[in-house]
Amino acid sequence: MSVIRALKTLSLYELVRGFALTLTYLFKRRATLNYPYEKGPISPRFRGEHALRRYDNGEERCIACKLCEAVCPAQAITIEAAPRADGARKTTRYDIDMTKCIFCGLCQEACPVQAIVEGPNFEFGTETREELYFTKERLLSNGDRWSDEIDANLEADVKGPGTKLNEG
Ligand code: SF4
Ligand code: SF4
Repeated sequence: MSVIRALKTLSLYELVRGFALTLTYLFKRRATLNYPYEKGPISPRFRGEHALRRYDNGEERCIACKLCEAVCPAQAITIEAAPRADGARKTTRYDIDMTKCIFCGLCQEACPVQAIVEGPNFEFGTETREELYFTKERLLSNGDRWSDEIDANLEADVKGPGTKLNEG
């Protein structure tokens, strides 16, 4: 046994075997992604960064019913509302403290007009906690920015062929 071990040591057997194994992986499909330049697919139900959506005419969907605020188990949502000059009830303040949010998706489930949604964006890391306090302006701008992707995800999630989304 000691002779065999000596021969293996002298011929660098283990090293050659290791290189051979490495070489076989040159011809196999890669198991890794070159993130952030490459990204894997995500589910239409992915619960990412929150966004407030608008109707096609630019009007805010949110009717300030506060269901999302009531259902939020982390009490991360703060809403204040007042009637507008035209009588429509709209929010004057809609904040989400993302440091509290647990991404449960209940706010989206509770919303009767598909206003608050969790979009596909997962790249919103910050350097300070303050930056994770999302205001209404930030949430609306998220909705504008990710509008196409959010619409496509909601469409993909609709049950049954031909079912219409609530477009107002
Ligand atoms: S995802 Fe859950 S925890 Fe986060 S704001 Fe919505 S209801 Fe609250
Ligand atoms: S986002 Fe939806 S559930 Fe929340 S207050 Fe607005 S309309 Fe109501």
